[in-house]
Amino acid sequence: MKRKLSDRVLGLAPSPTLAISAQAKEMRARGEDVIGFGVGEPDFQTPEHIKEAGIQAILDGKTGYTDASGIIELKKVVSETIQRETGADYPPESVIINCGGKHSFFNLALAFFEPGDEVLVPAPYWVSYPPMVSLAGAAPVIIPASKEEGFKVTVDTLSGAVTKRTKALVLNSPSNPTGAAYTGKELEGVARFCLENDIYIISDEIYDKLVYDGFTHVSVASLGKDVADMTIYLNGVSKTYAMTGWRIGYAAGPADLIKAMGKVQSQSTSNPTSISQWAAIDALTGPQDDVEKMRREFERRRSIMVDSLSLIHISEPTRPY
Ligand SMILES: *Cc1c(COP(=O)(O)O)cnc(C)c1O
Repeated sequence: MKRKLSDRVLGLAPSPTLAISAQAKEMRARGEDVIGFGVGEPDFQTPEHIKEAGIQAILDGKTGYTDASGIIELKKVVSETIQRETGADYPPESVIINCGGKHSFFNLALAFFEPGDEVLVPAPYWVSYPPMVSLAGAAPVIIPASKEEGFKVTVDTLSGAVTKRTKALVLNSPSNPTGAAYTGKELEGVARFCLENDIYIISDEIYDKLVYDGFTHVSVASLGKDVADMTIYLNGVSKTYAMTGWRIGYAAGPADLIKAMGKVQSQSTSNPTSISQWAAIDALTGPQDDVEKMRREFERRRSIMVDSLSLIHISEPTRPY
């Protein structure tokens, strides 16, 4: 039977990381000894007290629909967490709970971007950003974050890419895949430039707790109210708490924009899993020593990787960026 699929989906490639991970799984099932570098997934178990909070939520019968944009209890905790860690004031009505960090970005794209908009995406980038921008009908504009600049964008790179149509910049610090993390001073330059040019900053801080060598994470939302007002802050529990399968991410930003994201969510997934939301409260408010334990182990492995890779001599290939 001949059927015409939507142009929207015809132009859409499946997530390459998920494809790589599926292949690694298949090879492992065949008994091959492979290490997957596809999807970024902690190989740790979700900490015990968080699992127990999930079980308790089931036993307590917290298994019905919740408010489509998330339970107020978790929104409050997210609001307080962001306030404590960045100083930025996003009240609960400026917070939405989504079905994972990826879903936060997806809802944001649908609620905020439209044909004619351009969204700056520094490369190398997390592979999901450009397709989600395209799905919303907007144009992802890939800008280089070169090795010479430590894989970070500068005001110079940004100036060269901005047009009248530029609506937002995707900032992912610490970055997947490069690990590059912006210092406060670097963020200040980028943020001022965005403010001067009316460009919103989409700050994906999902890796904020996974920093190494004594680096202190700085959130762009911490740079002052004027910057926070132009920032949509994205985070979630997937990476920090080894909770990838629980599917809880969140966004904070201007209340009207957050409300618009809630509208999109209410017409698609409805609420994120009730049980996971209650467990996420425990993740954010409970003991944090497992986070540090995992971070330390990630740092140890990262040092082995960096040291080993540094021993390999690679002649510079020609690349588009
Ligand atoms: C993993 C990841 C996310 C969020 O993943 P979810 O599993 O959807 O919570 C967001 N941004 C980046 C860069 C990631 O690597």
